[in-house]
Amino acid sequence: MAGEPQADCLFCKIVAGEVPADVVRETGTTVAFRDINPQAPTHILVIPRAHYRDAASLAAADPRLAADLLAGAGAVAEQEELGAYRIVLNTGAGAGQTVFHVHAHVLGGRGLEWPPG
Ligand code: C5P
Repeated sequence: MAGEPQADCLFCKIVAGEVPADVVRETGTTVAFRDINPQAPTHILVIPRAHYRDAASLAAADPRLAADLLAGAGAVAEQEELGAYRIVLNTGAGAGQTVFHVHAHVLGGRGLEWPPG
């Protein structure tokens, strides 16, 4: 069923506490943790507790949860006092998505160039 935990999903395991993560913020619907391979001085991933493969699937199935995810990204940026920051939602392997449980990258703490690579 849409949103149900997937046995083979790394981020579902982080939500369940089965895989450790450096959690910086939790709500009833989202978890935020530091990326293990940071691409900026501050690099945090915000995920919904429910499993959806990407941002579009999440937004189509549960718009309120999609809003929670974006609000969570903003709250983390404020908590980390980033000021300027980037929210990235890689979608599809060709765009660099490697974990197919939707996650918002929150990147900050340095200048961010445009366009991204
Ligand atoms: O957008 P993409 O799917 O590539 O992002 C996955 C991210 O998850 C990577 O930045 C990777 O470093 C991170 N990751 C993590 N903890 C893990 C496995 C992956 O923070 N245990």
